[in-house]
Order: sequence, then C-alpha cells, then structure tokens
Amino acid sequence: MGILEKALQMLEKYPLCDHCLGRQFAFLGRGMENDERGKAIKNILLMEAQALARKKKDEGTRILKILAINGFCKRALETLTTMGRCFSEKKVAKTCFLCGNSFEVVDVLAKRAVEKLREYEYSNFLVGIELPVEVEEREDEFKAYFDVEYGENIRLEFGRILGKKIATYSQKPVEHRKPDIVLLLNPITGEIRAQVNPLHIAGFYKKVVRGIPQSKWFCTNCRGKGCEKCNWTGKRYPESVEELISEPILKATGGSKALFHASGREDVDARMLGRGRPFVIEVAQPRRRFLNLKEIEDDVNVNAKGKVEVSELRFVDKDFVRKLKKAEPAQKDYCVTVEFEREVSIADLKLLEKKLSGSVIKQRTPLRVLHRRADLTREKYIYKVKAKRLSPNRAELKVRCQGGLYVKELVTGDEGRTTPSVSEILGNKAKPIKLDVLKVIVRKV
Ligand SMILES: [Zn+2]
Ligand SMILES: [Zn+2]
Repeated sequence: MGILEKALQMLEKYPLCDHCLGRQFAFLGRGMENDERGKAIKNILLMEAQALARKKKDEGTRILKILAINGFCKRALETLTTMGRCFSEKKVAKTCFLCGNSFEVVDVLAKRAVEKLREYEYSNFLVGIELPVEVEEREDEFKAYFDVEYGENIRLEFGRILGKKIATYSQKPVEHRKPDIVLLLNPITGEIRAQVNPLHIAGFYKKVVRGIPQSKWFCTNCRGKGCEKCNWTGKRYPESVEELISEPILKATGGSKALFHASGREDVDARMLGRGRPFVIEVAQPRRRFLNLKEIEDDVNVNAKGKVEVSELRFVDKDFVRKLKKAEPAQKDYCVTVEFEREVSIADLKLLEKKLSGSVIKQRTPLRVLHRRADLTREKYIYKVKAKRLSPNRAELKVRCQGGLYVKELVTGDEGRTTPSVSEILGNKAKPIKLDVLKVIVRKV
C-alpha cells in the first residue's frame, strides 16, 4: 500500500493534525519535520482529489470530504464550497485524535519552560517528556491497527521540538550526557518540572581545634527533637565540621540541601592538620552554580572562625563522591602526645621507634567502636615512628601508618586487642592525651 493510500485510510477513520499524520511516516524524507510531512501528504491528496473531481469522479469528492472533516484542511473545505457541494461545518473535527491539538501549544510551553529556567543558573539542559499513559497507548493501538512501518513515537517528537525551541529561546544548548537541568514537560497537561542536577564541590579541610565532631551529631537522648539535656538544640555538639562547611556553601548556591562526604574521619578530640582531609559537598537543587570558589572558601573560613579551615575548593563530578568514599587513605601521619604511668627514658623511646617502625600491627576492632563495626582483626603497617620526650612521663610520637589504623589503641593496647602496642613494648601503661592528624594521603581520586 502506498503512502497516500495509507494516509487516506488513517484520515478517514480519525482526525489527525499535520504533526500526527506526518509522524506515521517519520523515517521517510530525511531532514523534514513531521508537520511538513503531514502537510505534504495532505496537499498531494488535495491535488489528486481535485484532478479526480474534475473528471466527475465521486472518489474526488470523497477525498475532499475526508480532508475537510478530519484533515484540518481549509483548502479542501473551500474547494468543496466552490464545487457547490453544501457542507455542514458542524461535521468538521476540531481535535486531533492522537495529540489533542497539543502541538499547537508547544511554543507557549517552551516559553513558559524558559521562564522557569530563569530561576536557575545553568549552562545546558535536557528535555524529558511526561505523557499520560493513555496518550501513548492510543498511539500504539493506532500504529498496530494501520500497520505503521516508518512511524516515530509521539514522545520523541515532543522532546525534539521542545528541545529545539527552548534552546533557541534560552540560547543554551541541549546536553544529553550531563545536563545541569532536566526539564520534565507534559505537553498534554502543560505541567513543567525542573530537575536540577546536584553540584559537587571538593576541597580539603583542617580542624584546628579539638572537640568538634566531623558530622552533625544528634543528641542521643531526644534523637534530634530537642530536649533539656541538649539545651533544645537536638545536637550533642553545637557545631560540626560538616555544618561549618555546608552552611555557607548552601547559602551561596541557594540549594535545598547539602550532603557532606569525607575520606575517613578523625575523632572528636583529634585535630586534623597539615594539608587537611579531602571532602566533597553535594548541593541538591542549586539555584546558582557559576560560583567564585575563592570567595566561598573565604566565607567558610570566616564563618568557622578559625576552628575549621577549607582550601583548594574545586568543582568535581558525581563519580568523585564514590571514589572518595571508596578510597581508603593510603597513608596517614599522626602526632600523638602520650602519658605514661611511670617515667620513660630516652632509651625507652629509641626502643619504641625501632620496634614500631616498619612493623605490622595486629588490631582487633577497638572496644570503643565495636558497637558499629564488625569484630575483626586487621593488619596495618607502620612506616615510621619518631618519639620525642616532653617530660619524665610524657612523650610525643609522630606516626606514619597505613590508613585505617586506630592510633589511640596503638598507644594503649586496648586490653591486648592491639599488638604490639606502646604499652606492651615498654611494659608501661600509656594513654593518648592529645591526637592530631597531620596528613591524609589518599590514593589518586
Ligand atoms: Zn496531532
Ligand atoms: Zn536532646
């Protein structure tokens, strides 16, 4: 069956706009839009009908009537009138069977979408089409009935047309792989939703004072609701590294929420010094993404009043978060001040350096973290230990070790769960009184 014959069958049964008729032949005629195809088919049918009508053939009148009633074709109507065929305008279909005339309003929808985009900063976008189920089902049934071979899906046509229009009106390109914003448009209901892709900002943080947890720590008594014990803050500590960094960033980006990810963590009472610890902030629904990170860095540092400092802020993509969380820091440098039960000599400390440098520590999960980590024995390597005597029963140890070693337990021995330990080697009970992380060396992320 030829194209014209098939198109006529379709139009005889259903009213179809130019887009919806043309779409059934979308893979024929390169570089044309579906409405051009539809219009071309209707024009040829009109010409054919006129030729037949001149030869006084009824078929000509029949085609003209079909075009007039179901083809949204004014010319067919005019031709019938000049031929003296009276024709009731009431019979003329007003609504396309497949799209409900939605293609007539795509331009308005595109302009409204561009209005919506103005709420955000973005460099590119992607259009996603949401359609009521019955619209696609209706077209599927239609295609099956007419055995459509070269047709395209209505969703694709809406997506392409709206994408082009919005690109023109907004002067921003369509991006398929990593768009800043996905516009979800429903051409039938006119609904517009913007899905803004999160923004990821990476950097390093230092924690210069003790007593600040890395993440927000809810009050265990009220679980965040607020109670007398926590002074109605819902928190066990008034501030955290997470909050000190996230809040100014959230404000600068106008996002709805910020998630904080870091490569490992230090204890509340340990400082994080040196270059700092790598982290990423993930901002959901950011309204601003063209940011001056140097200014934000200053904002964070002013806001944190010297307790926490961030540096080397930069934009990263989503994959970075996964890599950061997966990468166990390869090496860490610690500085720990140790207090001994009895006096220690320089010779004791020399022995400690010798025994611990280049050694493997067998460490069973410390008692203090047993409630949240499996009870396993891990082997961790110590690269180097340097000891300095501070007073008769105090020393400072600088430890370079494999990531994941619990340093407090390296000192105490954790009731024999960590071996060897400082206490064990010297036969002198030792406890850490100050702990600083000097350096976190992460495998390339
Ligand atoms: Zn239509
Ligand atoms: Zn509380």
